[in-house]
Amino acid sequence: MSECPRCKSNSIKLGSNIIIQVGKTRSKKVDILECPKCGLVYYESSKE
Ligand SMILES: [Zn+2]
Repeated sequence: MSECPRCKSNSIKLGSNIIIQVGKTRSKKVDILECPKCGLVYYESSKE
């Protein structure tokens, strides 16, 4: 379980292994998480 970097509550995973574009040619796989308490939505690198 990931904790919110802002308020340290447990976060909900909205999606995993989402590919985001980094610059023109590079891409990266991330998980998208949301904190239900403070509403922060953030990315975390997917562990493979
Ligand atoms: Zn939070």
